[in-house]
Amino acid sequence: MKVGIMGGTFDPLHIGHMLAAESAREAYMLEQVWFMPSHIPPHKHAAGTTGAQRLAMVNSAIAGHPAFRVLDWEVVRGGVSYTIETVRRLQEEYAGIEFYFIIGADMVQYLPKWRDIDELVRRLYFIGVGRPGTPLDLDALPQHIARRVLIADMPQLDISSTMLRSRAAAGKSIRYMVPDAVFDYVQRSGCYGVQP
Ligand code: ATP
Ligand code: MG
Repeated sequence: MKVGIMGGTFDPLHIGHMLAAESAREAYMLEQVWFMPSHIPPHKHAAGTTGAQRLAMVNSAIAGHPAFRVLDWEVVRGGVSYTIETVRRLQEEYAGIEFYFIIGADMVQYLPKWRDIDELVRRLYFIGVGRPGTPLDLDALPQHIARRVLIADMPQLDISSTMLRSRAAAGKSIRYMVPDAVFDYVQRSGCYGVQP
């Protein structure tokens, strides 16, 4: 069985994340995609959301997709979330599954800096999707990393969680940039400074 891992802080989850996961799933015939929200250290965002809130947003957004799941490991574990530690544990617990780690172009560029990247690329393939602002350039990567990065096409979406946090804080609409369920959650919970 082939499973994609969609990691991120998802603060908030937006349609760029959803489309990246769906594009990778379709392009490489992944049977499932597991969303894995990472823990955010308390100092990272001044008006930050909690792990429970980010998990709730991801859960609400993926509920209608039969192939999407959520794993709360990194949020529950706390501390800094290193992908290598998560991947070691995934491969221990699910020995029969072939994992693919889905990332946007901004992350592809930084792969050489990821902790234990040589072990990571021995353990799994990455699936990279394009993202406005960063070229998806595999030639810029060392060859042993580049050959473990597969590419999935997706319509380009110039949307980031950073942009959505500042729009929400400024009283601007984030409707249709996040899944409807996330929009409803943000309205109800009043996170990001939205008036409930
Ligand atoms: P922030 O602005 O807080 O960093 P973000 O929008 O980059 O948020 P993350 O949670 O950091 O979202 O990203 C999780 C993963 O999703 C990363 O691999 C990132 O490259 C990818 N991603 C995020 N937004 C897009 C997008 N618009 N198109 C393609 N990939 C995306
Ligand atoms: Mg990001």
